[in-house]
Amino acid sequence: MTARPFVLDPLFQSTKAVPGVGPRMTKLLEKVAGPCVSDLFWHLPVGVIDRRYAPNLRAAQADKVATVTVRVEAHFPPKRDGLPYKVKCTDGSGWLDLMFFNAKGDYLEVQLPVGETRIVSGRLEFYNGYLQMPHPDYIVTEEQRGQIPAIEPVYPLTAGLTQKVSLKIMRAALSRIPVLDEWLDPAHQQREHWPRWHEAIQQAHNPQDEADLSPKHPARMRLAYDELLANQLTMALTRQNHKRQKGRALAGDDALFQKALAALSFELTGSQKTAVEEIRADMRQGMRMHRLLQGDVGSGKTAVAFLAMAHAAGSGCQSVIMAPTEILARQHEKNIRGFAEKCGLRVVTLTGRDKGKIRKEILEQIADGSAHIVIGTHALFQEDVIFKDLALAVIDEQHRFGVHQRLLLSEKGATADVLVMTATPIPRTLTLTVYGDMDVSRLTEKPAGRQPIDTRLVTDERISEVVEALQRKIEQKDRIYWVCPLVEESEKLDLAAAEERFLHLQQRYGQRVGLLHGRMKPAEKDKVMEAFAHGELDILVSTTVIEVGVDVPEATVMVIEHAERFGLSQLHQLRGRIGRGSGKSICILLWNPKVGEIAKKRLATIRDSEDGFFISEQDLKLRGAGEVLGTRQSGLPEFRLAHPEFHSDLIATAYDDARLILDRDPGLLSPRGIALRTLLYLFERDTAIKYLRSG
Ligand code: ADP
Ligand code: MG
Repeated sequence: MTARPFVLDPLFQSTKAVPGVGPRMTKLLEKVAGPCVSDLFWHLPVGVIDRRYAPNLRAAQADKVATVTVRVEAHFPPKRDGLPYKVKCTDGSGWLDLMFFNAKGDYLEVQLPVGETRIVSGRLEFYNGYLQMPHPDYIVTEEQRGQIPAIEPVYPLTAGLTQKVSLKIMRAALSRIPVLDEWLDPAHQQREHWPRWHEAIQQAHNPQDEADLSPKHPARMRLAYDELLANQLTMALTRQNHKRQKGRALAGDDALFQKALAALSFELTGSQKTAVEEIRADMRQGMRMHRLLQGDVGSGKTAVAFLAMAHAAGSGCQSVIMAPTEILARQHEKNIRGFAEKCGLRVVTLTGRDKGKIRKEILEQIADGSAHIVIGTHALFQEDVIFKDLALAVIDEQHRFGVHQRLLLSEKGATADVLVMTATPIPRTLTLTVYGDMDVSRLTEKPAGRQPIDTRLVTDERISEVVEALQRKIEQKDRIYWVCPLVEESEKLDLAAAEERFLHLQQRYGQRVGLLHGRMKPAEKDKVMEAFAHGELDILVSTTVIEVGVDVPEATVMVIEHAERFGLSQLHQLRGRIGRGSGKSICILLWNPKVGEIAKKRLATIRDSEDGFFISEQDLKLRGAGEVLGTRQSGLPEFRLAHPEFHSDLIATAYDDARLILDRDPGLLSPRGIALRTLLYLFERDTAIKYLRSG
């Protein structure tokens, strides 16, 4: 019962198992849908072709797909290369020219013999007053009429994969869809008028008109709900598992904590105070803490983490803080060491750069407990890093680490409390889908004394003015980030654009211009970044790799090229790199005025607000209004069927549903529980099932 049910096996086979799919096709399908048969089920149509329009040729309208019965009159092979092959047909009322480019004449003579009747289906066009059908989708005899579907779904295509072939493959795949036991609550399903799972898949793949493609269609709603329920059940099971994990009650030491507070040279903001109290309350309890600290760049997460570490130290234990990169680890060290030393806490930092004797000394201090606070990178995962007594693991910027790595780190202290810090703001409705397994503290205010960033939209034809204006900023010893356009799906082109801009700025401003991009080795990146941080470079040209966490308070100018191509939350993260010192900062968004209304609204949102949570809410709203940016750029969670912008109501329902399910049947043993296990396997939530087994 703890293995995947056999009924799902056909779904997890390679698409090769589908009749008509060979190795070449498998690759193409993997590109558009995924490697398994189930991926084909989730690969829903994006359009629909209605072939029912069957006019008299005399009255036919152009720019419509039509199916007409005609007699073939004559063939006109092209007179020279490059011209189309024409086959003239009639239905008695009027004429139709079937047009073929690069056609093989022999083949067409067999397909369309002169004097015979054929049914052709395709898009009609007028050209020089003649009615034409270029490359009919179907050419069949009257006996074969049934081969032309009245209505046909359109799938997302890719080079090498045609509509006809994908239709055939999808049909074959869909004919093998299993009937699964119902996992939905029957009353809920009835209330919503949702079909069964296999029916929903079939309906979603057989739209009858454009309206059936809507995410609000009952079939698509059901499939979205299934996915969200699998997600919420996973979150609830993970959470249940967390709550079972033994932690330790850390009393802390009030005198030390007060010293730590005093070591901060500033007053905590209200939400920092609340977060610190929530964290300390968790730490005092016997359960293991799993808490997320969510706050915009610059909202002061590090200070909160430091106070939590001081609480651990007050209980005689060690803490560790993990950063995704060397440079971020060094930056944490710089911030934390100052605070820590003032209250007698010892900090060591371990990164991949530390070797030999130095590394050995650091390891000794970690092992004998003389290091209270350990800062580092992935290097901390190594086996010979042994803590005397680790009680708190702080993980910075969670999206850079996998869950797997979180586990590895926890192994260094099996009962250690876990605090994850993230600067990715997520709309409230979606927090449950991403962080539903953790408790959440949010930093909602900016520390006092920060100047707002002056954000301006400048059309891209004024780029040379912007380049010239940097002169004055450089004279004032300001530092400048120049972020280069994002070219969808091509790192190579990103890079080419950045290199070109780099050379251009170097011509104007000389050697104090640096270049940073994703293809560089980590050590090379760190070197350029450090040169910029130390003021050896005035301008740093980069692709979006600067997005995460680097703190250069002297950087007060950011120029973003083709800002309209970035996701809102990405723009917000980028801009968070400036405005970190006391100086006035300016962000220039160069944009192409030819973009649509929604893109303009997005840019206006970022110009008018610096509140990450507000911006992420707007982002979601604008997506609901028809935005088509990839989810990858948005910081929003990725689902296959659910669209948070349309299905946010379902999220809350799935959350309640999952709770209720586990309240009544914590081991998922009832008949519905067993069906729900199948749902979890269907969405590859095998880890969640593991929690059941161990429970
Ligand atoms: P985050 O990690 O959330 O991006 P940091 O913790 O790095 O933010 O804080 C950014 C800067 O603000 C640091 O220099 C930090 O010392 C300072 N800071 C943090 N909290 C406050 C506060 N309450 N008042 C003034 N400055 C603060
Ligand atoms: Mg605890």
